[in-house]
Order: sequence, then C-alpha cells, then structure tokens
Amino acid sequence: MKKYALVIHGGAVTMKPGELSPEEEAAQREGLADALQAGWKILHRGGPALDAVEAVVRSLEDNEHFNAGRGSGLTQQGEVKMDAAIMDGRTLKAGAVSAVPYVQNPISLARAVMEHSPHVGLAELGALELALEKGLPVRGPSYFITEKTYQQWLEIVQKEGAMAGHDTVGAVALDQDGNLAVATSTGGIEGQLKGRVGDSPILGGGTYASNDSCAVSCTGDGEVIMRGALAHEVYALVKYKGLPLAEACQAALALRDDELKGDKGMIAIDPHGNIALEFNSNFMRRAYRVGNGEPVVAMWKDE
Ligand code: ASP
Repeated sequence: MKKYALVIHGGAVTMKPGELSPEEEAAQREGLADALQAGWKILHRGGPALDAVEAVVRSLEDNEHFNAGRGSGLTQQGEVKMDAAIMDGRTLKAGAVSAVPYVQNPISLARAVMEHSPHVGLAELGALELALEKGLPVRGPSYFITEKTYQQWLEIVQKEGAMAGHDTVGAVALDQDGNLAVATSTGGIEGQLKGRVGDSPILGGGTYASNDSCAVSCTGDGEVIMRGALAHEVYALVKYKGLPLAEACQAALALRDDELKGDKGMIAIDPHGNIALEFNSNFMRRAYRVGNGEPVVAMWKDE
C-alpha cells in the first residue's frame, strides 16, 4: 500500500480555561473531523494532494466556527477581508489572494490565480474580479459576519485594551503518488487595519510546499511568522540540515524567540509520510489521519 497522510489545523491561540464554551468546542471538533474526512477520502482513493488540501480548507471556510471564509474576524472597519494561499509541492506552482472580500472560498480563488493567471498573488479588487470572471461564488456581508464575530468586533472597537483574537485554517497532504501540497486560509486578526496582509498568503511565511523537503502551514501572529519566514525555515532545516520534521518545526518555532514573540503554530508533512503538529501556545485546533489509520482530532496542548 502506498503512503498517504493528511494533517489539518484550525488555528493556534493562547486560550484561557473557560474561554471556549463546551458547545463551541464540540462544534469545532466536529468541523475538524468533517474537514479531515473531506480531504482524506480524496487521498484514500488515490487523488492529488492539491485537491485534498483545497477540499479541507473549503470545508473549514464554509464552517462559521473557524476564522476563514464564513466566520472570518472583522477588520477595524467591520469588514471581512481574507487571505489564502495554495502551493503544489510537485511543481512549485502557487496561488495566493490577499485582503479579498465577498468570495465564499478564498482558497479556490487562490487556486484560480495559480491555474488561470500569469501571477502568484492577487489582492483586493483584482482578486475579486478574477473570482467573478471565473464564476466562483461570491456572498454579501451578511453571509460572512456571524453574531460571534460581530460581538467580538464591537468589543474591540468599543473597549480600550480589548484583546484581538486571530485564527487560521490550513492543511498539508501527501498523496499516493508521493506529492505534497499545502493550503492556508484566514480572516486574519480581529480589528486589523484595512488592507493588512498576514503571513498566510506569503509563500515561505505561512505557507510552503516542495516535494524535496516538506509542506508546511502556519498559524499564529502573522507579523511574527512572516518576519521569521517560518514555513521556509522548516523547509530549509529539513532539506539542508537533515533535521527530522518535528525537530525542524520546533527549531523554527524557537527561531530568535526574543525578537519573534507571539503565538506560533504549524503543521507539516514530508514525502515519507512523517507528520508534525507543533505550537508554542496552549491550544491548537488540529487533526490528522495517516493512511487508513484512525482519524485523530485534538485541541488543547496536553491532548
Ligand atoms: N496567521 C494569521 C494572520 O496573522 C492568524 C492566525 O493564524 O491566527 O493573519
């Protein structure tokens, strides 16, 4: 039997006990399990890693319990502006969108940038226009903004010192042909400035895949992750230093930790089917399934 595996995340944050209601936690666990299954069945029947990571991220984007697509955090102006990127480890082809509004599945738009444009990245209206041209579904603000994200936004804009949350969704996969792929998508940081671009659509920052090393999707404080080029750091530590995947992720998370303080998390996979799920916070929504093994879903550090 050929190897295949899938690892997904729904964001790494520092979470106080009691901050997450049991209902919300259950809904997020269910969302992770559903998204894992959506991608795993593609890999199981011999489909491409690229399709599997896109399917996972679409499922999480459609789920209002995650900060990507529907349920994205709002900008300071109360708008939804999303970032996403997808990368094919076989060809090094990639597509990314930044600060894009209204598009139901930014990850599929990122794939359209990769497949139907001469560019790697498109932003804001340019990205939206490609979505319209390609007939990708677009939705009005009421689809994206939920009661939860609206209340979080109100708190941020009304209460001085209110903490802004952040989250992301992502997936890395190895398919039965030995190819790697990654997809990452996010609504970014709640209360972020209009036009902010996070690490997720930055290749080598929050997203990177190359068959000669590994595929990596990051989550956490984007400004910190991109300054450390953490996804590429893992790639380089595996490729040039020969570090095992999990050690490479741990070293990347610890990279210049004094300057690069913040929540940092990542999932990774290599062509041998090794997987890693590493984070410096107490909480990262995550799930994985290796070959035909049991699916695993976890959220807190000690699970
Ligand atoms: N990295 C994302 C961003 O900065 C947020 C997150 O992963 O929590 O946009």
